[in-house]
Amino acid sequence: MAVIVQKYGGSSVADTEKVMGVARRVVATARQGNQVVVVVSAQGNTTDELIKQAKAISKNPPKREMDMLLATGEQVSIALLAMAIDALGQPVISLTGPQGGIMTDTQHTKARIRMVDGDRIKRELEQGQVVIVAGFQGRTQNGDITTLGRGGSDTTAVAVAAALDADLCEIYTDVDGVYSADPRLVPEARKLAEVDYGEMLELASLGAMILQPRAVEVAAIYGVTLHVRSSFYMDEGTKVKEVDSVEREITVTGVAADENCAKITLAGIPSDVNTLYHIFSALAQAGVNVDMIVQAAASKSTTHLSFTVTREDLAETLSTIERLQADEEWEVLADDNVAKVSIVGAGMMTNPGVAAKMFEALNEADVPVFVVSTSEIKVSCLVPRAFCAEAVRACHRKFELDTAK
Ligand code: ASP
Ligand code: MG
Repeated sequence: MAVIVQKYGGSSVADTEKVMGVARRVVATARQGNQVVVVVSAQGNTTDELIKQAKAISKNPPKREMDMLLATGEQVSIALLAMAIDALGQPVISLTGPQGGIMTDTQHTKARIRMVDGDRIKRELEQGQVVIVAGFQGRTQNGDITTLGRGGSDTTAVAVAAALDADLCEIYTDVDGVYSADPRLVPEARKLAEVDYGEMLELASLGAMILQPRAVEVAAIYGVTLHVRSSFYMDEGTKVKEVDSVEREITVTGVAADENCAKITLAGIPSDVNTLYHIFSALAQAGVNVDMIVQAAASKSTTHLSFTVTREDLAETLSTIERLQADEEWEVLADDNVAKVSIVGAGMMTNPGVAAKMFEALNEADVPVFVVSTSEIKVSCLVPRAFCAEAVRACHRKFELDTAK
């Protein structure tokens, strides 16, 4: 008997009708003779609404209480889905994250799963029940409720699949798979049959928010193959798995855009490593995640430093720098009208000239480039936000991503 984990996102259970639709799909899977574990997110915009309610009461609510609040969203969906499945005559039980054995560390609002104690889930499965587990939540060793960060239900599903050694982990969502680019920007974008974990991780962290990046990491560690597909259609979606990059004929798999970035330039700072150390350790202490960094000499002893952060972190970044430069004469420039466009592909590792081709595409499209960064499987260019869509289209065209390979 196969063990199948199915995860349904918030848009897939947004209203009663959709909950019934999910229930029918789950029951059909169970009646084919499978043991089914279902992980669900909170309905629709519930989590956003709960966050809004909290912020209306306090600017800085205690994180433990935030988790107490946010975990209620998923508790509503597991109960409603269990009722819908029961109404179809299928034995079913819902479990909260803590009841499902999801054990986490103590970092409230962005906890990490430490381990999944699958005993309870297994026991319920053996009794012929469909088991519904609340996504996004778990508990600490002390019994406190935690949540896993936005999009965390994906990670719950993958961790449960790993713990049960499941045969299949399906991620049902409101898109029908992973595309070579955002179809809203590039109408001729293609659905990818499979992507490598590394590629998916880059695409996930670059704004194609189909999967929580942590979920992809956990899947890669435990070798869980994910199938990302639509909850509204039966079509095959995209498999996320290990793909042998040597066998890859294509160098670039997808183009991603991230509009959530801001660029800071510090002009005329001393060009020594110590200054860099001071700036970036202060930012790290302030909890600011720095992404791209470039440094260019301005004179013998001074340098221009540019780096990017998320737009939410811009204010914190500027105040940190202000504190640092108390009596220095740095010129600080901030620009949040930028976007990061990236080409991603595991095949890049073994093929030269990929960055050159990207620059050629951007040049032909008259897109200015401020900062470039690369990794083994991606090249990212920071461009003016107004040029973002054109840049994505130009790269998509240049690498011929619209033609099936
Ligand atoms: N409900 C949570 C969120 O909106 C978790 C999830 O959807 O995966 O982020
Ligand atoms: Mg999600």
